[in-house]
Amino acid sequence: MTGRLFIIAGCSGVGKGTLLKLFLEKNPDIKLSISATTRKPREGEVNGKNYFFISKEEFIADVNNNEFLEWAEFSGNYYGTKKSFVEKTLNKGIDLILEIEVKGAKQVKEKMPDAIGIFIMPPSVETLETRLRGRHTEDEETIKKRLLEAKREIKAGQHFDYKVINDDLDEALNNLQKIFDTERNNLC
Ligand code: ADP
Ligand code: 5GP
Repeated sequence: MTGRLFIIAGCSGVGKGTLLKLFLEKNPDIKLSISATTRKPREGEVNGKNYFFISKEEFIADVNNNEFLEWAEFSGNYYGTKKSFVEKTLNKGIDLILEIEVKGAKQVKEKMPDAIGIFIMPPSVETLETRLRGRHTEDEETIKKRLLEAKREIKAGQHFDYKVINDDLDEALNNLQKIFDTERNNLC
């Protein structure tokens, strides 16, 4: 049996990375896809672990070689998921998570309608801004761009199969776990 594909999306700063780290510690049999990006690494980020950090030229060559299952421009950088990795992982029967933004999520759903889309919602736009600023990883211009993207993303999030509000972290983690448990036990 092939693995199941889960898509996790949500605005920058909503807590996707935080939730996924905890979730994957509890669910070591589920894999997280590592994307390619033209964004510069943040302090502490490791090539091949957090992302494959590549140049714009390399990214465009990969697009032209049809290597991406999906890709998108987000806040001035390119991000993409390698098709070969997704296919190999699912063919081994391993469940896989793509942590991607909403334009990429739409492309995946079109190509793989069985993929399960989960959108992480902030409790409020104000809280989102506080979290994004509190992370201290982006400059002011990038924060503004990401907050603008957030409004568009929250609208697109309405079309996802599931929504999880990340207010209290433990509660959000429990809700995420319930969704995965339900979908992974659903054999049809
Ligand atoms: P994303 O991966 O969605 O961009 P992060 O996981 O980096 O977001 O989280 C952004 C910031 O918000 C981090 O500083 C993180 O510690 C904090 N955060 C995440 N979830 C919560 C939560 N439920 N309550 C309070 N702060 C949170
Ligand atoms: P960040 O720069 O904060 O790591 O990521 C910015 C946004 O890009 C986030 O919404 C993240 O989910 C998304 N993202 C990360 N990897 C991919 C990818 O491979 N494809 C797409 N479409 N979005 C991605």
